[in-house]
Amino acid sequence: MQIEKEKQQLNNDYQNLLQYRGMTEEELKKLMKEIGEPQFRASQLFLWLQNKGVENWDEMRNIPHSCCQKLAERGDIFAPKVITRQESAAHDTVKVLLEFPDGERIETVLMLYHRGESRDRATVCVSTQSGCVMGCSFCVTATVGKGRNLSTAEIVSQVLVMEKEAQKLGFDGVTNIVYMGMGEPALNLENVWKSLQLFNHEKGLNIGMRRMTVSTCGIVPAIYEMAAWNKQVGLAISLHAPDDALREKIMPVARKYKLKELLEAAEHYYKTTGQEITYEYAMFRGINDSQSQAHALGKLLSGKPALVNLIPANLGGAAGFLPSLVETITDFKRILTSYGIEVALREPRGVDIDAACGQLRRR
Ligand code: SAH
Repeated sequence: MQIEKEKQQLNNDYQNLLQYRGMTEEELKKLMKEIGEPQFRASQLFLWLQNKGVENWDEMRNIPHSCCQKLAERGDIFAPKVITRQESAAHDTVKVLLEFPDGERIETVLMLYHRGESRDRATVCVSTQSGCVMGCSFCVTATVGKGRNLSTAEIVSQVLVMEKEAQKLGFDGVTNIVYMGMGEPALNLENVWKSLQLFNHEKGLNIGMRRMTVSTCGIVPAIYEMAAWNKQVGLAISLHAPDDALREKIMPVARKYKLKELLEAAEHYYKTTGQEITYEYAMFRGINDSQSQAHALGKLLSGKPALVNLIPANLGGAAGFLPSLVETITDFKRILTSYGIEVALREPRGVDIDAACGQLRRR
């Protein structure tokens, strides 16, 4: 796979239109200058777009009509169409299907955790592409085709849609963001990075870098690029196998990037940012869940700053990937823990609305 070539092909012409929701305050300032408007209008506009999430020019009460008109001639506020909205029976997960102006569709998930006021958490799982080229055999997104890269505005607007959903369900707003929806963030890093900065901006949603996590299936050069941001953004790596042989069988990306160099990149990320790495490990019955595989994983990660997130598998792509039995998962966890590794069991969320890991697609 030629990463550069893939990246090129995944971008789309219509994204050359100005999308104000994806622009930094500095970019908006430059634009205001070009159209003969005062600089402070950029800050006003930025606040409406990034913090209030407005969808119409009329709502921007402190910006004169003439200025809005000039802006509307040059670009678009940018708000996706919500095609469907599903809420889990437990009212703790919401999934929306969004459509962008060129007809591309993606899904976004909101997960709500009631833990007592200041510890309440509202996490959005954003998509970064409208399909995926990585071809992991257990993942539904892999079956929808390659899709295209989402623009910064398309990533940002997913969170703003969910900000309103979170508020409707009694939360103050979004507190955490995980780049774990459709697509491979590492193939769209520029827009991922820009969106992280917009979310983090004090005039935007003001979400701390540490409250955002980018997940990759293991594209090594992207991990070095992320380390160069030198921010405390969380890094998650989809591991799913304790050795190269099995990983290559179920994740084609492993043919290019071996575990040794992947773990070296993770180590570098940790040294640069101080952030512990999360390893996602979906438990597939009879495939990667044996006790000897638990020992192998234990040995691989022991002594490393790692958190292993065991995910009960969700029904996904190719046949034959069934969830592990509860006892198997418990044993697996116990073995990993005996190597001094921190292990978390991810609680399945939104299974009744197909919103769980690896189940997102465009319909
Ligand atoms: N492409 C990135 C971001 C997607 S994150 C990545 O691979 O990390 C979505 C997570 O769900 C990944 O860890 C993915 O491997 C996992 N996943 C995919 N299919 C799954 C399934 N059937 N059961 C459980 N997890 C799955």
